[in-house]
Amino acid sequence: MSRALLLRCPVCDATHAFRGDRDDHEKAELLDRADDHLRDHALGESARAIRKHEVVADAEERILAGDELDRLPTDGWRADVALVG
Ligand SMILES: [Zn+2]
Repeated sequence: MSRALLLRCPVCDATHAFRGDRDDHEKAELLDRADDHLRDHALGESARAIRKHEVVADAEERILAGDELDRLPTDGWRADVALVG
């Protein structure tokens, strides 16, 4: 079993997975990652700031079996992620 923390973009529904759970990641790291992605969307400065906090607040912790984590995008954002459970 492995743990994953999932960030989901509220604009395009793309997912970014992190290994481990919230305790393994600084909030600043998660916010940066969300902000990087939200830059691709044409949001105003303040909308982007609000959205990135939303993304991190809504981050979801999952316990995954076997190789499920390997199929998640841990190195970037991907839109076509099928999540089980
Ligand atoms: Zn997006």
